[in-house]
Amino acid sequence: MSIVSLVKTDDYSNIKEDIKKSLDLIGGLDKFIRPGQKVLLKPNLFGTKASEYAVTNKEFLRAVIHLVKEAQGVPIIGEFIASDMPGINRIAFKELGIIKLAIEEKVKIIDFQSKQFVKTIVPNPLVMDSVDVAEAVLDAPLVINLPKFKGHACTYVTGAIKNCFGCITGRGDIHKNYPDDDFSKAVVDAFSTMKFHLNIMDAVIGMDGDEAPAYGEPCKIGYVITSTDAVSADAVACKITGHKLNQIPMLVYAHKQKLGTAKLSEIELVGDSPEPREFNFHGNYRKRISCLGSEAKVIETKSEAAYPEINIEDCIKCLACLNNCPADAIHETSEGLKIDHEKCVRCYRCLEVCPMKAVKLNK
Ligand code: SF4
Ligand code: SF4
Repeated sequence: MSIVSLVKTDDYSNIKEDIKKSLDLIGGLDKFIRPGQKVLLKPNLFGTKASEYAVTNKEFLRAVIHLVKEAQGVPIIGEFIASDMPGINRIAFKELGIIKLAIEEKVKIIDFQSKQFVKTIVPNPLVMDSVDVAEAVLDAPLVINLPKFKGHACTYVTGAIKNCFGCITGRGDIHKNYPDDDFSKAVVDAFSTMKFHLNIMDAVIGMDGDEAPAYGEPCKIGYVITSTDAVSADAVACKITGHKLNQIPMLVYAHKQKLGTAKLSEIELVGDSPEPREFNFHGNYRKRISCLGSEAKVIETKSEAAYPEINIEDCIKCLACLNNCPADAIHETSEGLKIDHEKCVRCYRCLEVCPMKAVKLNK
């Protein structure tokens, strides 16, 4: 039986108290931290032009830093944002205010992008035999996952499980090699190579709409969700946002792989009651998969999945999209950058990495 705590909150004004309450409901932070122990905090950050609601809220992160220090731990922040461009992670840390926060709070940042990755064998692979994981994550005695819950074009939602992607490299190739349902399997394979000891989810305000996770519409979810089981934390968040759990392949595969439980009957909820809200996280899936039973089944196909287009008026030709496109679908022409829709695998990385919001979805 997994335990998931829920604490209702309208906004981030009392977030430290809200997070503390959610931790106390599962026994308190002291039971996880030994005095002097290093504690790696893994937020979910994004390119600098994404909505502030697409990333783990800065005050949320600050609150966890304070709580870890009060439990006599030594917090360290580590992350690798979506883009593979050299140096981009450092720029994102700076522009998102994480470096300022780290200076104010006197905590160290580990820029995973500039450090070592270790080829790690997937113990029970669904599609990938190995994945390159940040050494700092593998070496950390305690990792606290601080995901943001929001809609996601490829996996429908992103939360505690998917936040593992910020701990690995080679994500472009994963998008290219494992489209549609296989992408969820690849996420689960990556997740299985690392250990998140505790998950404290920022499900206060997330992102909805076709252009989530980076853009789209901010939407209030209204909870801090805490658990040692990332799969259960995601399952409970999905219950609140009205998703059918069997239609979130990532959750189903993680459950099947015994990486946690997504079955609500096997989850003990403590704290506030889950109140389902009206959400419309729909993502730009081409196939909606139901995983009830032993095999994934396609229950809906969209032949016209939204495809990206570049608005050349807004484009500054930084080439971030071109350099991060896993399918080599973006090329330069005399009129500006163009996307080859035959080659495009609809991973939407170009949207995520564009600093100008020049990539739009054409529905
Ligand atoms: S054009 Fe954009 S959505 Fe299409 S494959 Fe490239 S990065 Fe992905
Ligand atoms: S579309 Fe965006 S990411 Fe691509 S070159 Fe233009 S500004 Fe850069």
